[in-house]
Amino acid sequence: MSDTCCQAKPRQPLLCPACGGRALAVGRDTLLFHLKAPWRFELVAEGYGHCPHPGCELVYFAGSAERYLAAQLHHPVASKLPEAEEVTLCHCFGISRREAHDPQVRAFVVEQTRLERCRCTTHNPSGQCCLRDFPPLEEG
Ligand SMILES: [Zn+2]
Repeated sequence: MSDTCCQAKPRQPLLCPACGGRALAVGRDTLLFHLKAPWRFELVAEGYGHCPHPGCELVYFAGSAERYLAAQLHHPVASKLPEAEEVTLCHCFGISRREAHDPQVRAFVVEQTRLERCRCTTHNPSGQCCLRDFPPLEEG
């Protein structure tokens, strides 16, 4: 899949301070897009960690003071809800997990990504390419 992914590549892995799982580095812009009422937060760090693990309420963190939980975002996080079909998987184009099973939808996203029209760095909660979250292609 890597040849179809956009430039929002995974970066240096971090550890989630809540669950101890591997977290991903994201920028402040990603939090500004996803946090509900972002003006209420100071967002003092330059860089943040994102925890994608289901069962862990922590979504973003920085240092020892900054913690942002799933309930503080203005939408559910798909990676935290692996069974949810109606959750938005791709915020670049408003695609749910259910829609992401459709090969035509996937082809659209692959094409937009190739044309660099996606916004995965900010619009995907993980900062990674949305195609990484798409369900695996069913072998025909
Ligand atoms: Zn975690």
